[in-house]
Amino acid sequence: MAIEVVRRGLMLILSSPSGAGKSTLSRLLLQEDRDLSLSISVTTRQRRPSEVDGVHYRFVNSADFVAMRERGELLEWAEVHGNLYGTPRGPVEAALASGRDVLFDIDWQGTRQIADAMPDDIVRIFVLPPSMAELRARLERRAEDGADVIGRRLANARTEIGHWDEYEYVIVNDDLQRSLGAARMILAAERQKRVRQPALVEHVARLLSE
Ligand code: 5GP
Repeated sequence: MAIEVVRRGLMLILSSPSGAGKSTLSRLLLQEDRDLSLSISVTTRQRRPSEVDGVHYRFVNSADFVAMRERGELLEWAEVHGNLYGTPRGPVEAALASGRDVLFDIDWQGTRQIADAMPDDIVRIFVLPPSMAELRARLERRAEDGADVIGRRLANARTEIGHWDEYEYVIVNDDLQRSLGAARMILAAERQKRVRQPALVEHVARLLSE
């Protein structure tokens, strides 16, 4: 008999400095895993040419952002690189309740807020670059931001990296396929945790009554 064990979804948080390869890693994880969906943040940042509104972010103006925040619609929010970013609450709560996992690409400030609010549901992974030189090279290769923006992101990278020890998992991204494999294994193991499978209590009771 096949048993279907309903579980509560988990919140997989990926943080890293800009350019460490976190977005590529997220995209690959999402592509291969139907039970995982991305939390689409709202931001006041300018849209990059390659970005699609409603897919990568919801791009809003400051007034709309503040209004959402004041209505309590954001699970967390932070100022990063001079722009505001926040996580809309509704889609996350709906996904978790229906047993779906949610991936968050957010910074250390947002991670702390979610960790305080929902400590049992989170799994935190920090992605480190192999070197600062490689980080700079990746930011320059991306070539979607101006030199001033790249400079600011590199300075902020040091602050972000300083919070690496607030995460239970750390991946040094020197090889994309290996990093993807590591993230996949973390997700698989976390899904099997007993506390995430409350319906097992009934299954075990049935087993013991046979
Ligand atoms: P980018 O502008 O390069 O897309 O993102 C800049 C930084 O903001 C990244 O570190 C990203 O993880 C973070 N970020 C994106 N969305 C959110 C969010 O909703 N909340 C928080 N706290 N950080 C976010």
